[in-house]
Amino acid sequence: MAVPLLDLGPVHDPLAEELQEAFARVLASSRFVLGQEVEQFEAEAAEWIGARHAIGISSGTDALLVALMAHGIGPGDEVLVPSFTFFATAGSVARVGARPVFVDVCPRCFTIDPEDAAQKATPATRAILPVHLFGQTAPMDALLALAAERDWLVIEDVAQAMGATYMERPCGTLGSFGAYSFFPTKNLGALGDAGLLVTGDDELARRARFLRNHGDTGRYHHELIGGNFRIDALQAALLRVKLPHLTAAIDQRRALAGFYLRELAGLPEVSANVCGDCACRAESIPEPDARVLLPVETPQGKHTWNQFTIRLTRPGERDGLRKFLAERQIGHQVYYPEPLDAQPCFADVVGDRRTANAALLSQQVLSLPIFPGMNGAQQDEVVGAIADFLSGRT
Ligand SMILES: *Cc1c(COP(=O)(O)O)cnc(C)c1O
Repeated sequence: MAVPLLDLGPVHDPLAEELQEAFARVLASSRFVLGQEVEQFEAEAAEWIGARHAIGISSGTDALLVALMAHGIGPGDEVLVPSFTFFATAGSVARVGARPVFVDVCPRCFTIDPEDAAQKATPATRAILPVHLFGQTAPMDALLALAAERDWLVIEDVAQAMGATYMERPCGTLGSFGAYSFFPTKNLGALGDAGLLVTGDDELARRARFLRNHGDTGRYHHELIGGNFRIDALQAALLRVKLPHLTAAIDQRRALAGFYLRELAGLPEVSANVCGDCACRAESIPEPDARVLLPVETPQGKHTWNQFTIRLTRPGERDGLRKFLAERQIGHQVYYPEPLDAQPCFADVVGDRRTANAALLSQQVLSLPIFPGMNGAQQDEVVGAIADFLSGRT
């Protein structure tokens, strides 16, 4: 039985009529960019997240860009970013003329390592950009303490983690800005590109609103240089249909992840892993020696499982499993196959200090199918395939 990596059908099919109604409403309004649909979506998203301000943006990438611009981060500034993340996290820093400084990640929870961040900091460091990767929260208390001590800004990349919480507090509201993506594969996906910024600061919200529309503060009067980072009314209207179902979708992802964790941990040579909010490093808890290591949910964080990502620790085995799953038509993906500090486009900003854990993970990780509506037979197929791979059955 073929199993897709992601199937949006189970989410969209029951909503098809409502989505079409939203489309018809926008068509009839003739208001296609910003406007009332966007304002309503912003209010509903702010409430859902628990943020004071929400500003609809053209994409998650642009949300990061606008956050950096609103702070005036630019040439001469350095921003600490994890080396193991989607490209946009670092690309947006470079696009405002600042320098991304690549920080290593925890091999267990995959998020930015506060200790390495402290080591990579210089007097030019202005901000740190933690990513709640795959839906797992970064160790925010350690990062916020470090940032407070050194006077850094904290901008959260919540593209993969809408709905995640850290010690009961919503991720995205812990720094000065939270940047969200509604790319179709994210937990709340638009039917195209869209994004969102949230902030608790009135002045930052005001600046972000101007910046998304060329810095226009009204009637073609420009106090800031912004760009076209506007969100479409259509995407906002479609997202308004999907937002009320997000909590249930996250619950389903959590149940699916729970099933994988239980079933896979029962296979020989597979081990659960632990991460005590990256304190595991300080306490030198050794990693289990197993062929397959399972992803973790730290006790501090509520994971939203945008991806379920295992590690194959033996050289070459990750690519062996890829081939094996491909033959069985089981979806899988390597997020991410190359650490950002190894990307050719950053060759001139990276020194000789490499991020070893990020490099290791890029060799070992494999993301498995997980999506709301995935059924038990599909999950059994994935678990069965991994069992067969590990025991050498074909
Ligand atoms: C998806 C993603 C982005 C960018 O979002 P887009 O909407 O695709 O521009 C940024 N950071 C991370 C971690 C992402 O996963």
